[in-house]
Amino acid sequence: MESSIKKILIANRGEIALRIMRCCRDLGIQTVAVYSKADRDLMHVRLADEAVCIGPAASTDSYLNVPAIIAAAEITRAEAIHPGYGFLAENADFAERVESSGFIFIGPTADTIRTMGDKVSAIKEMRAAGVPCVPGSDGPLGNDSAKNAKIAAEIGYPIIIKAAGGGGGRGMRVVRSADELDESIALTQSEAGTAFGNSVVYMEKFLEQPRHIEVQVVADIHGNAIHLAERDCSMQRRHQKVVEEAPAPGIDEATRADIGKRCTDACKRLGYRGAGTFEFLYENGSFYFIEMNTRIQVEHPVTEAITGVDIIKEQIYVAEGKALRFKQEDIRVNGHAFECRINAEDPVSFMPSPGEITQYHPPGGFGVRVDTHIYNGYRVPPHYDSMIGKLIVHANTRETAMARMRGALSELFIAGIVTNTPLHIDIFNDEHFMEGGTNIHYLEHKLEQG
Ligand code: ADP
Repeated sequence: MESSIKKILIANRGEIALRIMRCCRDLGIQTVAVYSKADRDLMHVRLADEAVCIGPAASTDSYLNVPAIIAAAEITRAEAIHPGYGFLAENADFAERVESSGFIFIGPTADTIRTMGDKVSAIKEMRAAGVPCVPGSDGPLGNDSAKNAKIAAEIGYPIIIKAAGGGGGRGMRVVRSADELDESIALTQSEAGTAFGNSVVYMEKFLEQPRHIEVQVVADIHGNAIHLAERDCSMQRRHQKVVEEAPAPGIDEATRADIGKRCTDACKRLGYRGAGTFEFLYENGSFYFIEMNTRIQVEHPVTEAITGVDIIKEQIYVAEGKALRFKQEDIRVNGHAFECRINAEDPVSFMPSPGEITQYHPPGGFGVRVDTHIYNGYRVPPHYDSMIGKLIVHANTRETAMARMRGALSELFIAGIVTNTPLHIDIFNDEHFMEGGTNIHYLEHKLEQG
């Protein structure tokens, strides 16, 4: 199917910029790369039809520089802007600016981004839509100490105080007993005010040993929404995902259909447009919504592997106003997929390891996908996230996919800088991970034990 969009500006860098560019080429869409002075040598900058330098290395002056990005779109006569993930992807003001400047924003409306970006309003919407949430305060906490104590007692300790505007695993505090409550609320409020410019906090039951399971959705502007099953991203360190898989071990068809329908119903209620992810904590067989990501996610390829749906392509079609090309009954889960995030960092100390890649040999073969912008001689700049690529494998069964990942990791060769590949090799040889269903604390406990 032809796209009516002729040119897209990619407001991002690294592997995701390359991923979006490749999708545009499939669709016959011209691409505009934007880059900082530190990123002249990025692969997609070389391969894009046009490239515009938008500022110095610091992302605040380049990839977060809204006027420069809008100007680049105007100069190159792009029709749409794809924000990728990170940077401006979930910035409602940016989405609004893109549309008011006459471009298509490849993502949801600014209003949706704003509603879902505030965790208190997001939870309110989800409760109303019938999406299961963590038991908690109905909205923001005030400064009435007796009232807060009553809410906490009703929920039952331990509880967690969370910032409405929080993100990246920051702005949270666990409270285990009533005597710590007032101080914890005050501290989280003041930290949130400084860090996010929003001191609103709320309270939730603290789940001790949950897994992280998330549901991928895509919705169009004609009121259609489908889900593409779930991913398990419980293998985390400091709230950062390290390995992801799809489907989630132990989730049966009926459970998948039920949680998926709740998410697509919520999309319809919200008037959601584009790709999105509902993130849940999962404990004792129950799902608890924690937040929605209104963008493409790093881990989207595992879902592409098991469903055969190119999620970036769907984002583009939906953004130009087309109806979804799939119905829910067209979506089948086929086999199992894993993704390893390859970071330029020490596998033990986790110190970043920027510098020149002197040799690179990617793995290959049936069911192996490598999404990366690196190449021989590429210099990893110190200014950005340390993720330099993603290794994705797909096979008929979880067991075969694990074996395939072990093989692929043993083939991956990167010299000149240090990467976390040895950590992935450890994880894929871990007996509990091999069984499936480990919780979100598992990796940190494993690392502590050495
Ligand atoms: P962020 O936007 O910062 O990622 P989230 O709401 O997604 O914030 O929470 C980040 C992480 O914090 C979760 O993945 C989980 O590890 C932990 N967490 C959040 N809420 C709870 C809770 N109610 N119980 C236990 N852990 C929680």
